[in-house]
This record gives sequence, C-alpha cells and structure tokens, in this order.
Amino acid sequence: MTEDHGARVIIVGAGPAGATLAFLLASRGLRVTLLERQSDFAREFRGEALTPSGVIALREMGLGGILESVPTARPVLFEGYNRRERFLRLELEEEIFGENSPRFVSQPHMLEAIIAESARHPGFRFERGATVGALLHRDGRACGVQARTEAGAVEFEADLVIGADGRSSRVRRAAQFEVDVDRVAMDVVWCKLPLPRTFEAVPQAHFYLGNAHLLICYRAPDDKLQLAWVILKGTWGELRSRGVESWVEEMANHVSGDLASHLRENCDRISQPFLLSTAAERVRSWCKPGVLLIGDAAHTHSPVGAQGINIALRDSIVAANHLVRAMRAGGGGAELDAAARRIELERVPEVRAIQRMQAQPPKLVLRAGWRGERVRGLTKLLRFPLVRAIAARAARPFAFGVTQVELRV
Ligand SMILES: Cc1cc2nc3c(=O)[nH]c(=O)nc-3n(C[C@H](O)[C@H](O)[C@H](O)COP(=O)(O)OP(=O)(O)OC[C@H]3O[C@@H](n4cnc5c(N)ncnc54)[C@H](O)[C@@H]3O)c2cc1C
Repeated sequence: MTEDHGARVIIVGAGPAGATLAFLLASRGLRVTLLERQSDFAREFRGEALTPSGVIALREMGLGGILESVPTARPVLFEGYNRRERFLRLELEEEIFGENSPRFVSQPHMLEAIIAESARHPGFRFERGATVGALLHRDGRACGVQARTEAGAVEFEADLVIGADGRSSRVRRAAQFEVDVDRVAMDVVWCKLPLPRTFEAVPQAHFYLGNAHLLICYRAPDDKLQLAWVILKGTWGELRSRGVESWVEEMANHVSGDLASHLRENCDRISQPFLLSTAAERVRSWCKPGVLLIGDAAHTHSPVGAQGINIALRDSIVAANHLVRAMRAGGGGAELDAAARRIELERVPEVRAIQRMQAQPPKLVLRAGWRGERVRGLTKLLRFPLVRAIAARAARPFAFGVTQVELRV
C-alpha cells in the first residue's frame, strides 16, 4: 500500500543513483515519479565495474538477487604488468573479498531489473522517454519539472525534485548550481574486442603499465574483451587520425606478448572506439529550496578505482535514510529541504576523500617523461607480505568506501 504522506518526489534520471533511490522510496510505501530521457538503457555505455562497496550497497537495498540474474562477469584473477612483465597476481575471491568480490555487471540489465522491482510497488511511477528541460518554481522554491515526452510537453509537480541526471545534469544547470572542477590529466578510450582464449578459460582483469602508458582490460558481461586505454588528455585526436592500425600498435607495444598478438590479429574487429573525457567535478552545495542533486549530478569522478556507480549507490542509501523519515514525518518543503542538507553533510566527506585519492595515481603513471622506474621499484616490493598489506590498506577506501553507509529505513 502507498502511505498517504502528501509529499511527492520526482527523480530525474534512472541511472544507478536515481533508479535505486526510486526503488527505496517506493518500497517503503512512498510516492515517487522517475523520469528518464532514454527509452532504452543500452543506448549509453556507463561502465559496469562494481567494487565490493557497490555490491554491498545493492545487497543492503534488498536488490542482491539482481546480481545473480543479470549478465555479469566476475573476475577470479587480477593481474598487473609493468613493461610487459607480470608483477602482480591476485586471486580475488579466495584471497580478499569473498562473496562481495568486484565484478562487471551489465548496467542496462541491472537498471531494467531495478525498475521491474520498483514497479511492484504502487507508489512508483516511471516515465521513459521523458527529457526534463526546465524546473517549475513557486514562492522561490522549485515545485516540479517540465519534460518533453512523446505526448508533448508535460509538467510534473513535486515537493522535491531530485537531480540524478548524471554528469551533464540538466537539473544542475536549470537550478544554477555552482560547480568546482579539478582538471584530470587523462582521458579514456573505450573499445571492445573478441575474447582471447585465456580470458575465456578463467574470467580475469589485467592492467598494463609502462612508458606513460596504462591499459586496463577485462572479460565483460557480454563475453567480449573490454579495453579501457588511459591516455594523456587531448591526445586522442592525433592518435585517431593516424588510423586504427597505428593506435592499436601503440597499445600493443606496451602490453604482454600474448595480448599484443591478440590486439594485432583483431585490429579489424575492434568495435566503435569512443573517448570518455574525464574531469572531477563537485557542486559547491548539493541542494537549493526544492532541489537535491545526487550521484554524478553532484560529483563526477576520474576513472581511477572505478568509483562512480558505487558512490552513486551509496548516495542513494543515505538519501533514502533521510528522505523516508522526512516524508513519513509529514514531508513539508522545510522538512524536505532540511533532509536534503543532511544528505549533503553526510556524503560530502566521502566524495571529497575519494576525489583526492583519485587525483594521485595519474600524476605518477602518466607524467610526461615518466619511464616506469619508480613504479617498477614499488611493484617489486609487492612480493613482501608486509608491503602487500600496506598496499591493501591504501586501496581499501576504493573497495569499501570511506564512511559508514548503512540503510536504516
Ligand atoms: C564510459 C564510461 C565508463 C565508466 N566506467 C565506470 C565503471 O566501470 N565503474 C564505475 O563505478 N563508474 C564508471 N563510470 C561512471 C559511472 O557511469 C557514473 O558515475 C554512474 O553511472 C553515475 O550514476 P548516476 O545515476 O549518478 O548517473 P548516470 O548513470 O549518468 O545516469 C543519469 C541518467 O539520467 C538520464 N538523464 C540525463 N539527462 C536527463 C534529462 N534531462 N531528463 C531525464 N533523464 C535524463 C540519463 O539518460 C541517465 O540514464 C563510467 C562512465 C562512463 C561514461
């Protein structure tokens, strides 16, 4: 049953942040309308790496079953190479993470499954193909949105508008939130290849370092080899203009012999490469009267440590904790705005800490003139258990988050 707490919440954007928050509100008997511009989630690639913190967040929400039912690739091996030589080999499940080990989860399938779960609750309304363009205001407070739908322009009234509409958030622009931007010195080229046999036999993820170069590859949920090639910002135009054979050769020169051969042999089977231009951004405040931003709309991340989806899921849990209570308590504008401020206060420390940590590795790995000696020295030390323990501790925030995030409603 939907509880009749007058408050109506609109969430703009059905990515990981918006879809899970809509599910949490609707499954607690509250009314929520979710607006999504895409009619098919498969039209945009948003990455698919879930770290343990993201896996744990989904389980806490009661959505853990989805992880078993949607296409997923769960690497059991993680290998690191420096100048083509392997220096790191971790058996992920047994050695470190147990049932919450990192995995690659098809986001279109995951989001559809969350929508289907949400639709079991009467308070949930989902509008596909609804592109929000403007905010509605009354008495100095946002009171809804205007969206373009197949049926034409439609106005949706709300007591709180939540912008979960990603890195180019329309809600953020419409409400004139101020944004701080940290330049990130790298971009990422994404492309896919047929799966090499070694990855078929044992699902795994590798990274290759060397000569201001970083390539990450893993077996994706669609059983292809996903490549993420980290390059210096602004260099893709020139690389691409040289033609696919030339830039594939550039990759092949820095990876182990088996992968280099696979890249060269499958050069003509590389699927549509595209560039992810990276930046670390954050809004100065996450809320204004009648509006709250969460997920990428409030803070984008560099790709280091694959944090974006996972942090978005943790935003959603904290947002639900505060909003469910405020809505059950009457949910007037003042209560909802106060809840929005508490959400911001609770989430900012983790977001800032992660952004600061993400800023360090690119400086080391991609610095012009870098020749790998420093990293090679460090990686040799990883043979010693004490050094491994220190490294694991340093990486822990990327795996498990920085602050305590628990669903309490
Ligand atoms: C190529 C790529 C690879 C990535 N790889 C990873 C990874 O491996 N691991 C990881 O953790 N993170 C990764 N990220 C980052 C991750 O995608 C985001 O951090 C995460 O999806 C943020 O979730 P979100 O719900 O806040 O926003 P999004 O996932 O961006 O969702 C926003 C939603 O809002 C909708 N929308 C936008 N504008 C409007 C509008 N005006 N009206 C209605 N709807 C609207 C969009 O269609 C979208 O569905 C990657 C990102 C990209 C682009």
